[in-house]
Amino acid sequence: MSQSAPPPGRRPARLAWRLFLLFVLVALLPLALTDWLASIATTEVATRLSVEHRRATTRHTSRQVLDRMLSGKALLAAQGEGADAQLPAGLGRVFSHVVRLGDKRATSWPAGQADELLLAWSQARSGLDGTEAAALPFETELRVDYSLPTQPRVMLGAYRNSKLAWLAVLDGAYLWAPLADAGAEAAWWVRDGDGRLISLFAGEDYTLQQEGRPAPTEFIETRAGLFLAGELRAGQWEFTQRSPREPVLWRGASLALWLAGVAAAALLAIATLSHWRIRLALEPLAQLTRVTRRLAGGGAGSARVEIRRDDEIGELAEAFNDMAARIETQFDALAGLATIDRDILAGAPFERVVGHALQRIAARYPGACAMVAWRDGAAGLRQAWLAPRIDATRLVLNDRFEPGADGFARFAAIAEDVQRIAAEGGEPPCGALAPCLRNAGLDRAPVAVLLPLRHEGATVALLGLGLEAPLAEEALQPAREIRDRLAVALAARMRDHELVYRAVHDSLTGLTNRYGLQMRLDALLAGLGESGRMALVSIDLDRFKNVNDTMGHAAGDELLCAASQRLQACVPAGAVVARPGGDEFIVLLPDADETTATGVTSLALAALSRPFALRGVEQALGASAGIALAPQHGRERDELMRCADIALYAAKDGGRGQHALFDADLDRAARDRVVLQAELRHAIDHAEFVVHYQPRVQPGDGRILSAEALVRWQHPQRGLLFPGAFIEVAESAGLIDEIGLCVLDAACAQAAAWRRAGLALQRVSVNVSPRQLVAGNLPEVVAEVLARHQLPCGALELEVTESLLMNDPGNARAQLAVLRQRGVTIALDDFGTGYSSMALLHKLPIDVMKVDRAFVAGLGVDDGAMAITRAIVTLARSLRMHLVAEGVETEAQAEMLRSLGCDELQGFLYSRPVAAPEFERLAGLPRGGAARLTVVSG
Ligand code: C2E
Ligand code: CA
Ligand code: CA
Repeated sequence: MSQSAPPPGRRPARLAWRLFLLFVLVALLPLALTDWLASIATTEVATRLSVEHRRATTRHTSRQVLDRMLSGKALLAAQGEGADAQLPAGLGRVFSHVVRLGDKRATSWPAGQADELLLAWSQARSGLDGTEAAALPFETELRVDYSLPTQPRVMLGAYRNSKLAWLAVLDGAYLWAPLADAGAEAAWWVRDGDGRLISLFAGEDYTLQQEGRPAPTEFIETRAGLFLAGELRAGQWEFTQRSPREPVLWRGASLALWLAGVAAAALLAIATLSHWRIRLALEPLAQLTRVTRRLAGGGAGSARVEIRRDDEIGELAEAFNDMAARIETQFDALAGLATIDRDILAGAPFERVVGHALQRIAARYPGACAMVAWRDGAAGLRQAWLAPRIDATRLVLNDRFEPGADGFARFAAIAEDVQRIAAEGGEPPCGALAPCLRNAGLDRAPVAVLLPLRHEGATVALLGLGLEAPLAEEALQPAREIRDRLAVALAARMRDHELVYRAVHDSLTGLTNRYGLQMRLDALLAGLGESGRMALVSIDLDRFKNVNDTMGHAAGDELLCAASQRLQACVPAGAVVARPGGDEFIVLLPDADETTATGVTSLALAALSRPFALRGVEQALGASAGIALAPQHGRERDELMRCADIALYAAKDGGRGQHALFDADLDRAARDRVVLQAELRHAIDHAEFVVHYQPRVQPGDGRILSAEALVRWQHPQRGLLFPGAFIEVAESAGLIDEIGLCVLDAACAQAAAWRRAGLALQRVSVNVSPRQLVAGNLPEVVAEVLARHQLPCGALELEVTESLLMNDPGNARAQLAVLRQRGVTIALDDFGTGYSSMALLHKLPIDVMKVDRAFVAGLGVDDGAMAITRAIVTLARSLRMHLVAEGVETEAQAEMLRSLGCDELQGFLYSRPVAAPEFERLAGLPRGGAARLTVVSG
């Protein structure tokens, strides 16, 4: 699971932050706005008040200056016209200079400055025009002298009788003292009506402020006019006061600071409160998220939230817990079913599946008792139960009952009738199940529910539940699901059993098959140990092929079944009877020695030799057997089977219906066969076969009429070998087809060569093995060879044996009929030795009968042989067949056969089989002809 969901707690609490920021913002805006408004309003009010106040101060200060000037005026007016040289004392406090203008002289203080002052006076300005002043009898006039480079001087002149009597300069310190008194922060400008500066005063703090501040602070300027025309005959003065605006303070701190402080405190309070409140609201959400994750992850631990609240969140938590409980139950159920499913898929034993199923039931139906009973084999019943009220161990697995046939019937009936019984409310049915129900305590449960498990239409198991009270249909659903799982498991188990059974058993006879035999044999050999022993008997039905060929495969199958039953009936308990294939049976006899093994084998062969009644026909078969013993003959499976096979061959060689015990000599013979097979293969590849020809002569004059082609093997080490040394092995090894073709080809080539050379033979006969007809294409093969050598069909004779015509492999008769129709002569070789029914003979596709050597040899010696030969000759005559006698060694035999009426004679009396050149010499072919011959043998 690689989902991108981060682990709980990693993702920042974004909702909380957003809410928090929102709250703080919402609080911050009005706070800031009110703060701003309040500070603006108060500053405005404060400024207005301050301006009022300054205005009043300015006015007041200008009046004070006026008062001082008026004091000067009064002081001058109070001076008489005294002629004393001494100036009156006390003026010095108000004036800096005083000049008294007596009649002729002027006295000044400080002395000697009268002229200078008078000059200054005359040049100074009053601010009014002179006419106005002259009209008054006595007046004091004020003038400002701007002539000095320093501060202008304010002069007072007092007239007496229109004459200037006193002239004084008001002391600057005295006159402007009110400006200084008005405050150290202010600066003052005093100007006359023309705007000329009379006095400038800057308080200490003001100067400091001006210097220390890079930017000019806000200042308040107030003006006040001083009307001097009335009292002092001067123009109007203007006082300007300029002082810094005062900050609005409360308890020593600026109001703005106070407001900001209050706003900050309010904000802090809001933030804290909202944080607390948001946490309170969102914490449950976080918990829900955590628990939901845990639930989704299916992790351990309970997925419940601990939220007890009486609001919507509390409700949500409750609903969540309900849901989590349901989901957990579902998960639990699924996990339980998954365990069972895993068991099924893993092919766990059914008992284990049942164990898990009962655990599920215990979890799903607490306190309930339960049991599963299932069929085990033909008459067994197995049970597992859960009995919480009876048994402390609770779960008991694997108890077996043998209820018998009746019990089973009951078992099935119970299962079929569960519904009906439930509906009728009758007593729980017991029968075979009584002990099962009792074990689980189901018989005492107030409510018992039985659920059948069905497989292929039959009830094969029961799931029983014992409950305290009836359950709703829906509540039984989990039990049904478990039942269904059990049914699947049981079906799988049955199928497995069946597969295993089929894998190791033969479907026809029900006996152990080759694979099963291997397993049983391996197991027996593995358990043999030091002192253990066993016997393996290989049994082969004799002449089974005859039945199969003449009566068809169905009859053959019937026969095999009957034979297998006889075998099973005569082997001791514990023996294994197997059919590895065909008509071959193997009996494993555990713990059997030679005596026991031969005893059992004799019994088995006797049983098999009794005729079988097949479709109303009695068939006598018989069987041969080979016995191998472990550990004497081998401890390995293949070795032991090979030994038994060799012994079986030996038994067959020794005549059918016998058994043989393996011995080392047999093994040697078998090994020789293997070597011979390999050499034969080599011989085919290296064209080591040659063909000799034996003449067949006319009885009267001995003239050569035809020849029989007989194969020989030019063995590289052993010299020339005769067919008796290798034909049988070649047949059993499946090599005769190729060898036969070689011979056919060589014989046809030779016949064609002889024809071309002028050797007049009626036919050349070639022996055909039954195996060569199995493929079913002999007519085509023959036609191809004849065509290749440009030999007419009439020049070829094929010799077949009676068994071939009786067993009819590959539809042999039909093939021979085709060949015969084309002109090829068919001869019945070794006639008289086989089992041919005389009655059938005339239906067979044959032209020539060859009387077997055995009868010829008996002529003149054995009367029976004479009688048989005579009968054969008579038969052949009546069937209008050409008759050939072989093995003629004496003149007497020849004479007798001639007198009986044989058409051709063959035997050492005339010639042994000889190579082609020799044959040509016998036949009297001119020498030139022979030189052209080439004998082809491959
Ligand atoms: P067969 O078809 O009965 O062949 C006749 C056998 O009798 C030959 O033995 C022959 O040498 C032998 N014989 C002929 N005249 C006399 C006689 O006067 N006295 C005695 N004692 N024996 C005589 P051979 O060549 O050893 O062949 C043995 C058997 O091998 C044949 O019996 C035949 O069944 C089989 N055979 C030979 N050549 C072939 C072949 O090319 N193909 C097949 N399938 N079988 C062959
Ligand atoms: Ca022959
Ligand atoms: Ca023969």
